[in-house]
Amino acid sequence: QSYVELRHINKMYNDYKASDDISFSIQKGQLIALLGPSGSGKTTILRMIAGLENADSGEILIDGKKVNDIPAAKRGIGFVFQNYALFRYMTVYDNIAFGLKVAKWKRKEIDERVQELLKLVNLEGLGNRYPYELSGGQRQRVAFARALAPNPELLLLDEPFAAIDAKVRIELRTWLKEMIRKVGITSIFVTHDQEEAIEVADEIIVTNHGRIEQKGSPIAIY
Ligand code: ADP
Ligand code: ADP
Repeated sequence: QSYVELRHINKMYNDYKASDDISFSIQKGQLIALLGPSGSGKTTILRMIAGLENADSGEILIDGKKVNDIPAAKRGIGFVFQNYALFRYMTVYDNIAFGLKVAKWKRKEIDERVQELLKLVNLEGLGNRYPYELSGGQRQRVAFARALAPNPELLLLDEPFAAIDAKVRIELRTWLKEMIRKVGITSIFVTHDQEEAIEVADEIIVTNHGRIEQKGSPIAIY
């Protein structure tokens, strides 16, 4: 059984077809890129998988269950946005701990988990900094740590490097790929950058005008 499965998804915004008969499936542990030009419907797909948006027709299954039948708190999905979306008035530590406090983890467990994550994203010792004291690459690594904190089963990344300058972006995508491998989490990575998709993903799904145009390994797509 696939971990994520989309079956004939359609979605209209007014009279614009953002998703046009989208079907694909993802196996546990896979790192998939959704690659396509701006406006091709990539973010819409991510939002529907996360249950933030409903499809007009079709089905989305996560681990065999319909997304909308799973309570939001139990979906086990981490989301990283392109603009960091960190809490500006919270320290790095508190940003990462936020979801764990909401989920009522014990203080000691939160502290251990945050320290473990700071290490994972190479930000040890920076727990007391505020987002404005960090570089773009460091902020995005805080966003990864925050998304991974509650041990989600699925990580959704929406153009996570869009706001980062070109040189750092190249370092960061190599780092991201290794980090995801290490954690072993099933991930969907949205990008409009072909080189980035080829570098990061095991499989690429190419979108255009709300449809899937191509699907395959980075070598096949290239
Ligand atoms: P991508 O992520 O590939 O840039 P999106 O999924 O964000 O594409 O958008 C696909 C199309 O749907 C775009 O033309 C966009 O303008 C439109 N769209 C997305 N969200 C909305 C919305 N909430 N209301 C109306 N149109 C939307
Ligand atoms: P709270 O009062 O939010 O429950 P604590 O009493 O555990 O939090 O800690 C007070 C503040 O000290 C936290 O909000 C956090 O900013 C900071 N802090 C706690 N532990 C650490 C740590 N190990 N590394 C960095 N900052 C920490």
